[in-house]
Amino acid sequence: MCLRMPQNPAIFAPPAAAAASSDLAGQDRAGFAAVVADLGLPAFRAGQLWHWVYHRGATDFADMTSLGKALRTALAARFSAGRPAVARHVTSADGTQKWLLRLADGHQIETVFIPEDDRGTLCVSSQVGCTLACRFCHTGTQKLVRNLSAAEIVGQVMVARDALGEWPASSESRRISHIVMMGMGEPLYNYDNVAAALRVIMDGDGIAISRRRITLSTAGVVPLMDRVGEELGVKLAVSLHATNDALRDRIVPLNKKFPLKDLMAACRRYPGVKNSRRITFEYVMLDGVNDSAADARALAKLIAGIPAKLNLIPFNPWPGAPYNRSSDKAIERFAEIERKAGYPSPVRRPRGEDILAACGQLKSASQRVPASRRARQPMPAE
Ligand code: SAH
Repeated sequence: MCLRMPQNPAIFAPPAAAAASSDLAGQDRAGFAAVVADLGLPAFRAGQLWHWVYHRGATDFADMTSLGKALRTALAARFSAGRPAVARHVTSADGTQKWLLRLADGHQIETVFIPEDDRGTLCVSSQVGCTLACRFCHTGTQKLVRNLSAAEIVGQVMVARDALGEWPASSESRRISHIVMMGMGEPLYNYDNVAAALRVIMDGDGIAISRRRITLSTAGVVPLMDRVGEELGVKLAVSLHATNDALRDRIVPLNKKFPLKDLMAACRRYPGVKNSRRITFEYVMLDGVNDSAADARALAKLIAGIPAKLNLIPFNPWPGAPYNRSSDKAIERFAEIERKAGYPSPVRRPRGEDILAACGQLKSASQRVPASRRARQPMPAE
């Protein structure tokens, strides 16, 4: 490659030991500032680079025409603006799309796009696998677990935007209007990286998805819930699923660490509550386990006084799951009791079931039960 004499010799110096990762995609503002400082460039260049990477979605430095040729060439020699590799991209009969992504170390994660009439929601993973081992969740059966980096979290949004052709996207026309941290993993067990990623995703000069359109879902890592409200200001969803400690200890084992009393106190403190933003309580409907009329009344009592809405999720079966989905009748009876108590209670229609993309069905293919064994395992009745 032939270069003119550099205007700024630092551009051509070998990478400094302290240089940030060589992949810009997924880095935060400080990372971009460090890259630019490392190259001896004026600070405004960081903003230009940011715009190309996060507003335009550029992956090739040659396209970053406002940067000047020498700088583009120098950047290309030392940096990339890449994406997690797409191992598989499948579309459900109902339009739900799922990406199986292969990370640099070979681990796999899943990201799901759920189109609806008035919005498009991207369901983003925070970990490879999950340590919580909720009894009804497929991800919890995956042995392999590690935290995702901020770049791997942001990378999921970038892959989806690539596939949907949303660069640059005006906020009116784009299909990905909402983000939910409801994929694989417990986001609050990876707080720092999730927070860094969400700051990038919310930045108005880039991906620009507002905090009001982002929901973080937790099984109840109580000590970090305050920070979500104070530091990120996104919406909070809490995976409740049971109204007494005996049952919740069994189906959401994290409850043994942070029992309902502490969890509900954290919900009452959640800053969004004061700002009259509702907390969403997720409640998986398990046949004969937590779906009686008495359970419904106990739920209304438990959340009394909290501005809330419920998200009733009919259990999504997976191979070998120990539960069945509640009947439509039981779900409707349950929802009616909540509505009468003043809580909007939409029943989440399962989406993407045929591609194992529905809530709780995510599990990396590399960890999945081989088809030969899967065939012999009974699927719980729907
Ligand atoms: N760990 C976080 C993020 C996961 S969000 C949390 O627990 O909130 C995914 C949601 O789907 C959670 O409410 C989870 O409890 C629910 N879920 C898990 N398995 C499910 C299944 N098989 N059917 C329906 N919902 C399920």
